[in-house]
Amino acid sequence: TSTAIIIGAGHAGGELAIALRNEGWEGRILLIGEEAHLPYHRPPLSKAYLAGSVEKSSLSIRPQAAYDKAAVEFLGGVRVVAIDRADKTLQLADGRSLNYDKLAIATGGRPRPLNVPNAVAAERCANFHYLRTLDDVECIRGQFAAGKRLAIVGGGYIGLEVAASAVAQGLQVTVLEALPRVLQRVTAAELSAYYERKHREVGVDIRTNVQVADLQISGNAVSALLCADGSRVEADLVVVGIGLLANTELAAKAGLEVDNGILVDQHAQTSDPDIFAAGDCTNHPNALLGRRLRLESVPNALEQSRVAAAGMAGKSKTYASVPWFWSDQYELKLKMVGLSEGYQQLVLRGTPESDSFSAFYLKDGRVLAADTVNRPQDFVAAKRLVAEQIGVTAAQLADDSQPLKELLP
Ligand code: FAD
Repeated sequence: TSTAIIIGAGHAGGELAIALRNEGWEGRILLIGEEAHLPYHRPPLSKAYLAGSVEKSSLSIRPQAAYDKAAVEFLGGVRVVAIDRADKTLQLADGRSLNYDKLAIATGGRPRPLNVPNAVAAERCANFHYLRTLDDVECIRGQFAAGKRLAIVGGGYIGLEVAASAVAQGLQVTVLEALPRVLQRVTAAELSAYYERKHREVGVDIRTNVQVADLQISGNAVSALLCADGSRVEADLVVVGIGLLANTELAAKAGLEVDNGILVDQHAQTSDPDIFAAGDCTNHPNALLGRRLRLESVPNALEQSRVAAAGMAGKSKTYASVPWFWSDQYELKLKMVGLSEGYQQLVLRGTPESDSFSAFYLKDGRVLAADTVNRPQDFVAAKRLVAEQIGVTAAQLADDSQPLKELLP
């Protein structure tokens, strides 16, 4: 009987394993993950779970019984250290080796380390954290207590979500962002200004244009962040959220093509026809944008893994999804679709003051992307406007008295 192995048991790996069985794969399916946990939802780690409003048990994507039913064997707490493509074997950290017929790589990524002199020493301090895994968040949660001073490095989604969760528990929060505004890489200035205002209103000290130059360590703890402008931020705990490095070393060492992610085609196949890849670790073509990209999002991980599963089962599916993302901060549900790069005009629908509005990024009469805040109905319509490249005018988008769905064919 043939064996399919999936390396990495995150959003992509877990979905891929189940989808592979559903696609009719009859042989063994092994899902190998370095983390001990069954695949779990990462988004709540900086949101509801960090805020203490959902239980740990709700984080699992599926119960053990679902993997049993699909006859997926889960090997948790096991790291794959090498892929031998000629022999079609994998080397595990514990010395075992395993044969595969088809392989999937879904190794995700790891936090980008803070590049300052004391960062490595800081990693040995119990109050210094990155946030990617359930184990990371358990440590952070254990230190969350009202009145503590939390310094967050990075004003991206994760940093801001951690800020919102911490404020809800009474911590004193400072966010340090090196760029001139928060969320700079992903939204327009109007949206950044809106989010900065919402955070400041509840007491978060948001400082932009501030570069962390080093960390001050006192005993076994980081006691302050030293900034390039000479300022000091004293802290009881520190969370760093400054981006992700894709886990591509295993693929690169095996001689697969890697360039800002493991290169796959529109069928999630790598440069080796027996090896597929899905999720945050891949660099894939996007038909709508006409270029390759690497995405860090759950919808991408799920959709790409279903395409990879079909390919491994000898069928063919094509990945052609529009990127979309979400972020929850306070009562604000942000949902974004498309990529705004190269937009010519920003159109607002509704007002930020009402906490229910959308922003559309327009180019040549087409919507490239949209950010919607507490507007699920706008998001549904925006997804189609972007995907189907429906022609619209700025006036139509701005007219809040006409439902957006009336613009759809
Ligand atoms: P991962 O989920 O990272 O899984 C990869 C797994 O592979 C890991 O468990 C890793 O341990 C394992 N692995 C790596 N190398 C090996 C090896 N050599 N051997 C064995 N196992 C290995 N996305 C959204 O769309 N919306 C959100 O709101 C959102 N919020 C987020 C909040 C946080 C705090 C974080 C950390 C991420 C968030 N994301 C969000 C991003 C989302 O979680 C990722 O896009 C998604 O997890 C990608 O899934 P993946 O399976 O590709 O990678």
